[in-house]
Amino acid sequence: MDLANFGNELISKINAELRMKLKFRSDSTIEHTAFYVSSEECIEVNEGLLEEEARAKNINLKDYTYIIISHEIGHALDKQLPKIDTKIQRFERILKTQGYKEEIANRLMMCKLEAEQNAWNHAENIVTPKFNLLFNQIKSESLKKSKENFKLEKQLLKLKLKR
Ligand SMILES: [Zn+2]
Repeated sequence: MDLANFGNELISKINAELRMKLKFRSDSTIEHTAFYVSSEECIEVNEGLLEEEARAKNINLKDYTYIIISHEIGHALDKQLPKIDTKIQRFERILKTQGYKEEIANRLMMCKLEAEQNAWNHAENIVTPKFNLLFNQIKSESLKKSKENFKLEKQLLKLKLKR
């Protein structure tokens, strides 16, 4: 299956329907299955990682890609994202300059989680109803994984920044 072609078509359709100007790019060097680059309004996917994850989860590759790209479109639809990004940068700067503080680290991770939750909520509105069941499954697994990752990220920050 040509994932890049599928992604391009999906983004074109969304652009036409929602009057957006999203770009799409396949990049095998990114470390996530997919990523939204807000400064470029561009959705990037790593086709190899998408294939691996779909296989591991036993989900049809095209269906999985559809839902993951919808999540990234959800980031693009999130009007709160610039504000959340600004807060994330501010908390990261405070931690870097003042050393590790549990309260700031918690607020940083809450912002990151908020961005993920918002993206899933927006994605919910654009996903075809016949995918509702699969969507909810992937959404809850992904949010659980995000929470675990952010907890880990916090511990790493603590090790790195503690004075
Ligand atoms: Zn996301």
